[in-house]
Amino acid sequence: MRLIRRVQELREALEPLRREGKSIGLVPTMGYLHEGHLSLIRRSMAECEATVVSIFVNPTQFGPNEDFDRYPRDLNRDLSLCESEGVDYVFAPDVSEMYHKDATTKVTVAKLTEGLCGRSRPGHFDGVTTVVCKLFNIVGADKAYFGQKDAQQAAVIRRMVRDLNIPVNVVEVPTVREPDGLAMSSRNSYLTPEQRQSALSLYRSLVMAREMIDQGERSAHKIRERMSDIIRSSEGADIDYIEIVDADTLDSLERLEGQVLIALAVRYGDTRLIDNTKVEVS
Ligand code: AMP
Repeated sequence: MRLIRRVQELREALEPLRREGKSIGLVPTMGYLHEGHLSLIRRSMAECEATVVSIFVNPTQFGPNEDFDRYPRDLNRDLSLCESEGVDYVFAPDVSEMYHKDATTKVTVAKLTEGLCGRSRPGHFDGVTTVVCKLFNIVGADKAYFGQKDAQQAAVIRRMVRDLNIPVNVVEVPTVREPDGLAMSSRNSYLTPEQRQSALSLYRSLVMAREMIDQGERSAHKIRERMSDIIRSSEGADIDYIEIVDADTLDSLERLEGQVLIALAVRYGDTRLIDNTKVEVS
């Protein structure tokens, strides 16, 4: 495994692979890797001849009052995890390597970024699409792997790739959960034991939503109300949103139909957690 810190060095390393027609998989991450990240990495390793994992805590996707400074980082641990998965290249650039001091260009996906997390995190998705577009240009990957955990992010990136004709296949990988159902996240490390326990209500509310749909419920309002009851009954929950939207367009739905995304964001203290489930409703 090779650790690469420079854009040019990565390009030069990948050039021979591309010339030989080898397939390249890219797994973009902000590091502090957990099983969720590893499932993306394993999928890339299984499907591509070379795998690049990027580790970059991207400042432009954090708001001024968000957790950029305290975001958990442990590059050495991440490197040994990547090594043991058989990753070929870890790309871990400095901020100054990724952004020119006077950079003036950004990528914006309109509309899909207005709702859900976009509402309480203005500018967040511009940061995400800009850095992911840069990574696509730097790596020239055949496939790029994203988690369903960040379902809006995956939808936004699919839209960017489609609209800008970026030659990459976006693969969405199912959410990996702790045994008790909590979606794995680097931010779970912020939770106190009590908050960690309360946060189980997020998964419980999603399971309840699926059960209601199985039993024939199609009213988004009724499902959201029930989810909200479950989450509000957990200690310390501050609901940012519970939304039921079309999984591709992210348009809000009143009646459930087609591929439906049920997504939520809830704060426990300073920690904002997101989770979701997708259901095909006939
Ligand atoms: P992050 O490091 O949080 O930016 O995440 C990097 C990638 O890993 C994103 O595509 C996430 O959606 C994905 N990811 C994070 N947590 C999980 C999880 N629990 N299950 C599956 N994918 C995940």
